[in-house]
Amino acid sequence: MAGPTPGVSRRTLFRGTAAGIAVVGGSLAVAPPAYASNFYNPFAGRPISDGWQAHLNRGSLGGIDYPMPVGTNLPACGGGSIQNIPNNGTGGHTVTIHHPNGYRSQYMHLSAFVLGNGAVVGAGAVVGRSGGAAGAPGSGSSTGPHVHWHMINPSGQRINPLDYLAGLGGGGRLPKTSTAQDGIPGTIFWKRAQNWLRIEAGYTGPIDGVPGVNTYAAMQRELRDHHGYTGPIDGVPGVNTWAALQRLASRYGYTGPIDGVMGPNSWRGVARFLNEDRWD
Ligand SMILES: [Zn+2]
Repeated sequence: MAGPTPGVSRRTLFRGTAAGIAVVGGSLAVAPPAYASNFYNPFAGRPISDGWQAHLNRGSLGGIDYPMPVGTNLPACGGGSIQNIPNNGTGGHTVTIHHPNGYRSQYMHLSAFVLGNGAVVGAGAVVGRSGGAAGAPGSGSSTGPHVHWHMINPSGQRINPLDYLAGLGGGGRLPKTSTAQDGIPGTIFWKRAQNWLRIEAGYTGPIDGVPGVNTYAAMQRELRDHHGYTGPIDGVPGVNTWAALQRLASRYGYTGPIDGVMGPNSWRGVARFLNEDRWD
């Protein structure tokens, strides 16, 4: 493969990235209205190859480009209804999420749509798969695997999604979990856990705070790699899984037994870890 060439967009450097298509977590086309206005950055923690200004500088109306292997699941940044636009000019296959507040989000250069038009989704639901390989169907003008993301305000003007998220309470970041105080894991605790596992262990399901087999399997992978878990990666946590999680908690102030029985102090230790800014 040729090395970097002057004048070539950085995203080109990611051309040829191995495709790693993971199992889609969560069910499709199910509407959890509770998350309808719950915006977040589903690509946080990934490098940006072309930022907003770089887009404007080359004549684009604006966007943020995140390199990722072709076939990566694209979670919705916020709830809404789905509109698929095949071969949308230079944008290629484009999925639009119509948010209930009048804003829209668009992901471009998709390799695949996964939902039907009109499907209603919550934040974190997978709404398509990334593409962008040069010349591939749906890539439009893209020259290397990535997703392009921008938002459109109710006036029809394209806006920077990162500015939009920054303008929301909490800046579009996940709030800290109160589990660090009360020792009771709830939705926020598990959203933060899913975000941790998304960044560290290849979790690709929704950030919905409802742990399922995919969440637990990713947790087992992470515990195997860093906390001595030696059991199966089956997504069904048992005593060995929880004991490994207690070992993680023991690095964050948990001083109780490593017995695989999670109590409030075990959860508090895990919560102190999850409350680190890097999992926001
Ligand atoms: Zn772009």
